[in-house]
Amino acid sequence: MATFALIIDGKRVETAEHFEVRNPSTGAVVGLAPKATRGDLEAAIAAAQAAFPAWSQRTHTERQALCHAVADKIGEHAEELARLLTSEQGKPLNGMGSRFEVGGAQAWAHYTAQLELPVKVIQDNNEGRIELHRKPIGVVASITPWNFPMAIAIWHIMPALLAGNTVVSKPSPYTPLTTLRMVELVNEVLPPGVLNVIAGEDFLGAALSSHPAVGKVVFTGSTGTGKKIFSGAAETMKRLTLELGGNDAGIVLPDVDPQQIAEGLFWSAFINNGQTCAALKRLYVHDSIYDAVCTHLTNYAKNIPVGDGLTETNVLGPVQNRMQFNKIVDLVAAAKAGGGRVLMGGETPAGDSLFYPITLIADLDNGNRLVDEEQFGPVLPIIRYTDLEEVIAKANDNPNGLGGSVWSKDIQKARAIAQRLECGTAWVNKHAAIQPNVPFGGVKNSGLGVEFSDEGLHENTNIQVLYS
Ligand code: NAD
Repeated sequence: MATFALIIDGKRVETAEHFEVRNPSTGAVVGLAPKATRGDLEAAIAAAQAAFPAWSQRTHTERQALCHAVADKIGEHAEELARLLTSEQGKPLNGMGSRFEVGGAQAWAHYTAQLELPVKVIQDNNEGRIELHRKPIGVVASITPWNFPMAIAIWHIMPALLAGNTVVSKPSPYTPLTTLRMVELVNEVLPPGVLNVIAGEDFLGAALSSHPAVGKVVFTGSTGTGKKIFSGAAETMKRLTLELGGNDAGIVLPDVDPQQIAEGLFWSAFINNGQTCAALKRLYVHDSIYDAVCTHLTNYAKNIPVGDGLTETNVLGPVQNRMQFNKIVDLVAAAKAGGGRVLMGGETPAGDSLFYPITLIADLDNGNRLVDEEQFGPVLPIIRYTDLEEVIAKANDNPNGLGGSVWSKDIQKARAIAQRLECGTAWVNKHAAIQPNVPFGGVKNSGLGVEFSDEGLHENTNIQVLYS
């Protein structure tokens, strides 16, 4: 069994203690992850600090070339990383699983590598010249969750590095191995100390996000942890990008063809087994087509192959961990107790299995916990509506504001409704689609700031204005 190490200052650092990472499909131990101490954390931050002057003083073109080399390194090891990701996360190799995630991470890295940070001339006349420069912040701490460990690590790391920062990455204790291996690989092309990784218990996240030597925290995870980071970062006024939880609503208008949209609705909700921040998590369907949408969605869902992700034919896997599994069980119980009609699934598997079945529950409404709270698993509540104003109000009646969608043949009407949703991204006839050239972020409790594109890159910089 493989034993993984921290990567600090370009070197493997073995720890005295380790913890087991288990395959959620089988329960088998995938590898031993290093358990970093407070001393290891200090060493990682010190290495990042030491590497910062030289890295930040390289030209943008040099950093672009090294960022492309990082992307190439990921590409060379794509299959190895995908298999490791499936083994520790549970998502299948195929479908929108590990190969898709690793390929996406590589593409994202290449895209980010070619972004520019030009000096903006604000004024240049007889009264003088005023320029806006974007300077690196310093040491960036990246803290990631367990649902897309590889992609999210890359989303954090690449713009931070390109802008001239150095990074300490901390993956989730549920899924640390792919990040540890990826950082080890890309350290073959990066100068020592520019990208470091530590793994271990949750205290590391709190220590990183309040550490005086860290200039910025980029965090993806739950809203509860995001709030703790927000307050921990206050003392030293850190820059923050917080990508937090979502409870995205989808509104289906009466003019759709229920059969035609069933596939799109299904994958909007069940991408990565529902363990996706911007998945469709509450589906509001007009009364006139409610039963037809329920029927076609159920028929589509029945044919999805679920199982061990290393089996090539499967496209959905287990819930990643027991903590999340128990949350799902609890929310489904609340849905049943509140009069929810189970269209499929809804039964807790026996024994130690983490394979919660694909579950569709009809006849719920706002006020039921499965509608109001983020389920983050393979369960979708379907809510009946008749009045458009009322359904828009219900969609917005939630503390989260990550994404939302409207489904209709009338694109103009759907666009107008989508713009009334209180969320960072609104889609028409799709959901959860993201691109590296489009900013992504939440409003309300779903976060602060954006990632991707020029806007995301800018969040890794401080502005300095130069009057001359
Ligand atoms: P989590 O908040 O439990 O953990 C995320 C990370 O924070 C882990 O690395 C964890 O070790 C670390 N951590 C724990 N306590 C900490 C503390 N006090 N200070 C700093 N770091 C700490 O989240 P999770 O369960 O891993 O992820 C699921 C959540 O992430 C869901 O709510 C989901 O919606 C959200 N998410 C959001 C996005 C987005 O882009 N908005 C993307 C993916 C996931």
